[in-house]
Amino acid sequence: MMPRLYRHAWMDNDIESFRDQVRRYVRAELVPHLDVWRRQGFIPREVWRPFGEIGYLLPELPEAYGGAEVSLAWQMVVQDELAKAEVPANSAVHTIAAHYILDYGTEEQKQRWLSKLASGEHLAGIAMTEPGCGSDLKSLRTRARRDGDSYVIDGAKTFITNGFTASLLVVACRTGDAGSKGVSLLVVETENLPGFRVGRRLEKIGQHASDTAEIFFDGVRVPARNLIGEVEGQGFVQLMSQLAYERMLLAVPAAAVIELALELTLDYAKQRKMFDQTLFDFQNTKFKLAEVATMAHVVRTFVNDCIQRLVDGTLDPQAAYMAKWWCSEQQCKAVDECLQMFGGYGYMAEYPIARLYTDARVQRIYGGANEVMKDLIARAL
Ligand SMILES: Cc1cc2nc3c(=O)[nH]c(=O)nc-3n(C[C@H](O)[C@H](O)[C@H](O)COP(=O)(O)OP(=O)(O)OC[C@H]3O[C@@H](n4cnc5c(N)ncnc54)[C@H](O)[C@@H]3O)c2cc1C
Repeated sequence: MMPRLYRHAWMDNDIESFRDQVRRYVRAELVPHLDVWRRQGFIPREVWRPFGEIGYLLPELPEAYGGAEVSLAWQMVVQDELAKAEVPANSAVHTIAAHYILDYGTEEQKQRWLSKLASGEHLAGIAMTEPGCGSDLKSLRTRARRDGDSYVIDGAKTFITNGFTASLLVVACRTGDAGSKGVSLLVVETENLPGFRVGRRLEKIGQHASDTAEIFFDGVRVPARNLIGEVEGQGFVQLMSQLAYERMLLAVPAAAVIELALELTLDYAKQRKMFDQTLFDFQNTKFKLAEVATMAHVVRTFVNDCIQRLVDGTLDPQAAYMAKWWCSEQQCKAVDECLQMFGGYGYMAEYPIARLYTDARVQRIYGGANEVMKDLIARAL
């Protein structure tokens, strides 16, 4: 048994019953297909349509834009349940894209896109990373040139989650001079768009159900009114201002996965027999699992505290950076310790613990590499 956590103030009865509904839906409608999705390398876009229509994609949006106007805690609960069921973070990326439009878009842009994003009619991605720049985003080179009432985009992006399946991308482009002030965000509706091409779906060591693709823009023309906000050069500031919330979309799954790994390992250790006892009977096993249970508890407590502050509007970026790097490190350590308990079975791809191990590793890299998080924390010390 996990130690019982106190119920955090943000977790009221309404969110609790929402969590139960999401859990039931995820287990019944998504989990049975995961093996197929892992083999084919993507989750079909249509899967997110009923998920959105039932209100699970963007519950936090205002009602006027198709949401339920609830707090961001509800989105965190959705991400928690998806991670506990080993569904990769495709809907988190969709959420991030929608929030750029919500927070910085014009009224016309919100009307045009948000309810389609809430309902799952559009699946979104966010395209920042390029072959030549990831962490150092201000050096991005994909160019959007103004031409009358359009922008013409040329360039390449890589590692784009939902790159293969998305119908709408928020694309970080260079509209001005070198450096952060020359970056803008443009919305690109990708279907049948001349000059837009999805390249390879990249083969990863984990997260096999999630599509991660290269994308190319070759003279892609989008209406100038697709510039998020009305002024060029705001993209870098817009990207930086969302960081606290986005980091929590990585910390929450870390908490969920540590708990899942512990649960799987406890079950296994208590039934695996060796040397006339169970694996759990060894003091080493008990100590290791006591350590992992402590990690699970501390990570969850920290994450809950950050969610509370997110809901209150007081989550400072520093705390969110800490949550991102520290919780993802704990995730990797905890899953590694748990895998060891499974012996050779832990190395077999069919065992969930093996998937948790390979799926976890990227948590320390994407969403801002952990070294970048520490650098940002240190700047404020
Ligand atoms: C599965 C997956 C999904 C992704 N999804 C998306 C997506 O949807 N959209 C998108 O735009 N991008 C996405 N990315 C890209 C991801 O955000 C980048 O990989 C990440 O930001 C790191 O950039 P990079 O890979 O170019 O590494 P680099 O920037 O080359 O960094 C390499 C390493 O250098 C070190 N480093 C970097 N900066 C510093 C520093 N300041 N101080 C000290 N050390 C440092 C770190 O150890 C880092 O891991 C995804 C990546 C993966 C693997």
